[in-house]
Amino acid sequence: MKAICSKNHRYNPMFSVLPENQGKTGRHKCAGCAVELAMLNKAKGIPASRDDSILAELPESQAGNVRHKDAYAAYQMVYQY
Ligand SMILES: [Zn+2]
Repeated sequence: MKAICSKNHRYNPMFSVLPENQGKTGRHKCAGCAVELAMLNKAKGIPASRDDSILAELPESQAGNVRHKDAYAAYQMVYQY
């Protein structure tokens, strides 16, 4: 059974600037949760992960919520700011 994100990240303005996921297989992780994870880790002083294995434990996005935004791009974006 897959974990599906039930949080409402819909109103986070950050998502409007994220690239769309380019159809990579299995990349349906919740971008909202990726952002939260990145902010949490950044606050703890944990360096950015070099690959998207950091997102392995995140739930998948709900259809129509964050609209298949690229979760790893979202994660990286937090670290760039
Ligand atoms: Zn989420």
